[in-house]
Formats: sequence, structure tokens, C-alpha cells
Amino acid sequence: MSQAKGNVVCKYCYSIKTTIPNSPNNIRCQNAWKRIGDLLSSRILDYNELPFSKNRDKIFPYVRLSSHEELINGTHYLNLLNIVEKNPLTIFVLWTKRLDIIKKFGRHDLSNLILLFSQPSFNVIDPKIPIPFDKTFSVYTIQFATENDIKINCHISKNAKCINCLKCFQLNNVSHINELLKGSPLNWRDITILLVDLLRSNNLDSIKPLLDQIDEELLLNNIDLGLRHQVDITRYLK
Ligand code: SF4
Repeated sequence: MSQAKGNVVCKYCYSIKTTIPNSPNNIRCQNAWKRIGDLLSSRILDYNELPFSKNRDKIFPYVRLSSHEELINGTHYLNLLNIVEKNPLTIFVLWTKRLDIIKKFGRHDLSNLILLFSQPSFNVIDPKIPIPFDKTFSVYTIQFATENDIKINCHISKNAKCINCLKCFQLNNVSHINELLKGSPLNWRDITILLVDLLRSNNLDSIKPLLDQIDEELLLNNIDLGLRHQVDITRYLK
């Protein structure tokens, strides 16, 4: 059940800054994504056109498909499935909100494919995993997660990388991945006040993931605020 009408998560996407044509690198990326997107969505590619690593030493163990933007259409998805089939030694993971495409074309019994349903809204209570997805990925504001006792188990940040976690890249007992909203609508002062509340409660299990997400500079700028609440924030700096 969604608690989040109008809370469209896309406007907070990590990828959005790459869509601004403000640097040669962004422009190069956009041109390349456009070229690849056009190719994959316009026709079913021949088998020999699909990428394949013959060299066993150079096989990537994990690949995220379409890490920027979304599935374009069914042809795009079918080409991705064919790439997955051609590379059975690599685990491919696809995050998508395009339930319509996945339901229509299925997953072709590919054991090296993991499908994650990205919840289109943030702050969804009890997110469901639609068939035939393996997992769901949901995003929460700090305030909502704290108030609703939602466990944040994705700690990706500039210091934590997927390769050191792999929750999404393996079929395991973690089916619901919850991340804090990047660029939360709360302002930093509100976040600090919430943090201070948590610090005062001494609930270190809840605090750690929040601290991992929050810039050290923010904490340094709020030492006085912490002291006013009898909390020495410097204790929690890495
Ligand atoms: S849960 Fe782990 S693997 Fe998944 S997105 Fe977060 S850091 Fe990456």
C-alpha cells in the first residue's frame, strides 16, 4: 500500500545530474546512452551482434543493466535478455519500474538474471514484489523511516559500494532493499535534529546506517546543536 501519493522518486534519482549538459563528460555520456538506447530499442539484434566475453579471465562476475534511465520498450528488454543468455557466467541485475514490459515478456527462465522492482514512489509501506520479480527496491526519507520503524539496509554512499555489499546482486534471503532518499526533502537541520534524537536514545543500530549516509561536514557543522541536546556528536565521527 502506498503512503506516498505524489512522492515520485525519479526527481531524486542519483542519475539526474548526468542529464544536465553542463560538462563535456555529461554530453559524451548522453550521446553514448542515446546511441545505445536507439540501437537496443529499434530492432532485435542478431546473436553475433551481442556483447560476449570469450576470455574467462575478463568475465565480469556482476553487471547492472541499464544503470541510467529506464527500459524503453519490449525490444530493448528482449535484447537485454539475449545479452544475459549469451553470457551465462555473469550475474545480471536489472532495476526497473516498467512492470508492464516485464509482465508481458517474462524472464525467460534465465538463472543469471535478477529482477528488482523499483518502487516508483518513496515512503511506501509494505512494498510488494510483483511476479516475476525477485526483489523490490524502496526509498524512504529519514523521518518516515524513523517514524515507521523501517530498516534501512542499503548503505550505498561515497564510502560504501555495491561490490562490497552485493545484496541486490545475489539471490539470498534479502528480498526488500530499503535506501534513504538522496537529497531528502528534509533540510539538513531537520535531519540533524532527528539524528540527535536517535543519538540520545542510544539506539546505535539505527544510528549507524544514518551516519553512513550523512556527510561528516554536516555533523561537524552541528556540534553546537548536539551539545545543546547533551549529545557529543564528535563521538560519532569516523
Ligand atoms: S543494497 Fe548493496 S548492492 Fe544493493 S544498491 Fe545498496 S549497496 Fe548496492
